[in-house]
Amino acid sequence: MKNWKEVAEKVQKSKHAVILSHRSPDGDSVGSSLALYHYLKNFVDHVQVITPDPAPMFLSWLNGFDTILNYQNHENAVNEELQKADLICCLDFNTPNRMGDLEKAFRLNEAAYIINIDHHQNPDNFAHFQLSETTASSTCQLIYDFIVELKGTDKLTVELGEAMYTGIVTDTGSFRFSSTSKHTHNVVAELIEVGINPGQIHENLFNNNSIDRLKLLGFALNERFKVYEKYKAAIIYLSEVDLKQFNYKKGDTEGLVNYPLSVAGIRMAILITEKDGKVKMSFRSKGDFHVNKLSEKYFSGGGHFNAAGGISDVGILETVQKLESIFPEYEKELNA
Ligand code: 5GP
Ligand code: MN
Repeated sequence: MKNWKEVAEKVQKSKHAVILSHRSPDGDSVGSSLALYHYLKNFVDHVQVITPDPAPMFLSWLNGFDTILNYQNHENAVNEELQKADLICCLDFNTPNRMGDLEKAFRLNEAAYIINIDHHQNPDNFAHFQLSETTASSTCQLIYDFIVELKGTDKLTVELGEAMYTGIVTDTGSFRFSSTSKHTHNVVAELIEVGINPGQIHENLFNNNSIDRLKLLGFALNERFKVYEKYKAAIIYLSEVDLKQFNYKKGDTEGLVNYPLSVAGIRMAILITEKDGKVKMSFRSKGDFHVNKLSEKYFSGGGHFNAAGGISDVGILETVQKLESIFPEYEKELNA
């Protein structure tokens, strides 16, 4: 049983709230953080959004973006915020280690009331109040449900709605993934009623490419794209040197993994990128092939059934080879 009465009281009484989300911030983690930020500001004197590392600039137009603190560059300020917090909201992750180094700073405050709102599988039990719905399209959609339960829909504003819509539209691949439900569209209908402009938000999010980013896409598809028809799988791999050649900026590889998935017959797409000396994995699949299990087993990762991430502990080319040695294990399932 979720204790809605208790959580409503804690929100009403809080003086200092902190909102945390996962490493490599994305549209849904930043969108849900800023949506909740705008909501909590109605009740709480001081609200601070914190990310483990900097949020990508394709979200910089969001109202409140400039107030976000990141742990990577502002460790002392973040520690201070966390020490003072009486309410800590953990959004868009199911286990604190998804925050990377920020987890340690979070663990030091043992007095604050902890809220977890998330849609990933297998949530850990680390919060006093947990709203975890693995079928929800996005954490942003759950923030809407949270506000409804707290009887706060009169507090929905355009700036809050824009942040919320951003997470919904990015996590559903513009309403095309199977997590998109009638409720998802109903929430968006409410946001339009409040006054958001979906066309303008799409323009801000998706028609804002740099020339370098488009050239990186061309390079990736021409030079770093491997298709394995036998396994209905495809890989794109980009080294740190490749990314540098195209003046890589955070967010430039966002959505790239969907290109191999768009090839007819492909069931699983994998993007491998080398960033800050780490080899990061992004998995996507179609239908009933579970990429989160594969990522958990071989790449210390996880996520959703059809979208998961992880880390490889070998170099980029070795990672490609490792995948090639793993594919046969899944041949039957990928061809089912
Ligand atoms: P992306 O490929 O967009 O980075 O991540 C896809 C999904 O997998 C997201 O829902 C993300 O939260 C999750 N994910 C990404 N990286 C990791 C990871 O290292 N561990 C776990 N457990 N989940 C991840
Ligand atoms: Mn999400």
